[in-house]
Amino acid sequence: MPAKTGAEYIQRLKEAQNNVYIHGEKVTDVTTHPAFKNVVQSMAVLYDLQHEKRDKMLYTSPTSGEKVGITFMQPKTIDDLIRRREAMTEWAKTSGGMMGRSPDYLNADVMAMGTNNRIFAEASPYFAENARNYYEYARENDISLTHTLIHPQVNRAKMQHEQKDANVALHLVEEREDGIIVDGIRLLATQGAITDELLVFPSTVKKSGEQDDPYSLAFAIPNNAPGLKFISRESFDYGKKPWDHPLGARFEEGDTIVSFDHVFVPWERVFVCGNSSVCNRTFTETNAVVHMAHQVVAKNIVKTEFVLGVALSMMDAIGIDQFQHVKDKGTEIMLTLETMRSHLYRAEHNASIDASGTMTPDFTALNAARNWYPRVYPRLAEIIRILGASGLMGIPTEADFQHEQIGPIIHRGLQGKHLEGYERVQLFRLAWDMTLSAFGSRQTHYEYYFFGDPIKMGMAYFDSYDKEPFKAYIQDFLQQTRVKV
Ligand SMILES: Cc1cc2nc3c(=O)[nH]c(=O)nc-3n(C[C@H](O)[C@H](O)[C@H](O)COP(=O)(O)OP(=O)(O)OC[C@H]3O[C@@H](n4cnc5c(N)ncnc54)[C@H](O)[C@@H]3O)c2cc1C
Repeated sequence: MPAKTGAEYIQRLKEAQNNVYIHGEKVTDVTTHPAFKNVVQSMAVLYDLQHEKRDKMLYTSPTSGEKVGITFMQPKTIDDLIRRREAMTEWAKTSGGMMGRSPDYLNADVMAMGTNNRIFAEASPYFAENARNYYEYARENDISLTHTLIHPQVNRAKMQHEQKDANVALHLVEEREDGIIVDGIRLLATQGAITDELLVFPSTVKKSGEQDDPYSLAFAIPNNAPGLKFISRESFDYGKKPWDHPLGARFEEGDTIVSFDHVFVPWERVFVCGNSSVCNRTFTETNAVVHMAHQVVAKNIVKTEFVLGVALSMMDAIGIDQFQHVKDKGTEIMLTLETMRSHLYRAEHNASIDASGTMTPDFTALNAARNWYPRVYPRLAEIIRILGASGLMGIPTEADFQHEQIGPIIHRGLQGKHLEGYERVQLFRLAWDMTLSAFGSRQTHYEYYFFGDPIKMGMAYFDSYDKEPFKAYIQDFLQQTRVKV
């Protein structure tokens, strides 16, 4: 089957009847439910874009000869890497980078794990074959994916087997002839309600020991697998007009708790079974973390461009762009953008072929970018808040503008330097929805925790950084002026 269209994406979700719960009720059709229907439409736009911009978004499948999504492509050259990233950028632009889990993120993951799959063969060659087959299946059927990595937050001071109820977290119950039975809870599948299939993988950051082998699993199952439930948090799409909630009314992806009630996973969908050693190394040794980070950096460049555009428009709107600290805050966003662009350039132009023949970006550059952006994004949101001030609260709705009596008052009273009240408030509502609304606050939280706990990531970064040359440099320097004693 070639790359799917938006209509096919919606039809598949309708037919799947995934087991989704929200606001205390079971959802009968996510494509029409108020919490999900708007983001489903935004996802459909992405799939349609593949067909509208075929040259940019599709490539010829090496196995079927069909036109499939280029974000699944195994890059063999630097040009391939750049082509893939340009398609990712195209998708990110539709939401200003606010739809963090557009399908390309996990398409990059299954590509890397499917092609550079030797680690899975440590337990059995069959597992590596499964990863390869799953990649091809996902690519040929344009499967939309969600994923879940994290054990529930019961007691972080203990390993899973030490928890007071060691059966809360997802664990292996039984190995059968035809597959495995798993049971328990995993967090926090963004887009869990609106995708076709679920990848269960270990966390990159939280390493396990052998006693946690029963929790060390990697597999993929359809979201409508019997016993699987997606319990969605409250929706931040309040059913408002896109004029009022320009982001929340279109790009609210939803985050779900995933419950497995003795779920059966056939062997052909299992990549790791009860093996903490393999789990701990999965993301690094397959280079999945590199290809996922490549997508993330491309998406975050678009997001920073969007934030910069909003900041500059706000400065123009209320005539603050000549003030020194305002310019300086604009500069902070510009420096963030240019730094991210440099990381991306270095990652792509220093790329090299890995053991599986995949052109792989330079991880040094991407690792710096993925550790840095979570620290800087909250500051970008803060800058928007500082620039907007009362303008982020003086934001009547479109209905207020249509009102016979108050409409003319606010149209005049909320005018900007060159804008009428209607246009200025529309802009400031966008700034509010990006940073202060429930949707906007989640964006900040999301970016902070995107790749895992930034504190632990920072510790791992420090530990793995080659520090010796710098210490040696200082020793040499001091040696020059040292007198023998
Ligand atoms: C909006 C959003 C969307 C997400 N989407 C997904 C998704 O689609 N799929 C997915 O798998 N995950 C998703 N996540 C989960 C994300 O990966 C985790 O939030 C992240 O890895 C941090 O883990 P945690 O939430 O369990 O935090 P915890 O590990 O529980 O940490 C909580 C706090 O305790 C501190 N802490 C805990 N343990 C230690 C320690 N050993 N040493 C020092 N400090 C410690 C942390 O620094 C942190 O401040 C999402 C999270 C958010 C916020």
